Amino acid sequence: MSTPRSIVLGPLKAPMMRLATQGSEVAGILVGRVEGDTAIAYYLHLARNVRESPVEFEAEPWHVVQAHVSAETYGLEVIGVFHTHPVCPPRPSARDVEGMKRWPYIWVIACSSEVEAWTPEAEPRPVEVL
Ligand code: ZN
Repeated sequence: MSTPRSIVLGPLKAPMMRLATQGSEVAGILVGRVEGDTAIAYYLHLARNVRESPVEFEAEPWHVVQAHVSAETYGLEVIGVFHTHPVCPPRPSARDVEGMKRWPYIWVIACSSEVEAWTPEAEPRPVEVL
């Protein structure tokens, strides 16, 4: 499957930036659908950051399972991995790039003033945020 070139976050952007004002990174799974080369996020399923760290995250596995179950329940799919950076910019860290190998979805990263999205590659490329 090729990675969509844009992702529609719409009304999710503002709450994502607010989540980035917490001291620790906040993590979640984006559920929605893909239409052509556009991913459309319907909702953000939060997953507890078991590391409770300002510089890294590890999603609570059970919360990730619940995100997949809820996506299936609504006839949707998991389209992205979300986390916050308490300090801008919302660019993938070296650890994020490693994580993209295990979670090959669009990575959406929010800080307090911006939301960006990235392809899951060794050299992540920006995905247009709509
Ligand atoms: Zn990160």
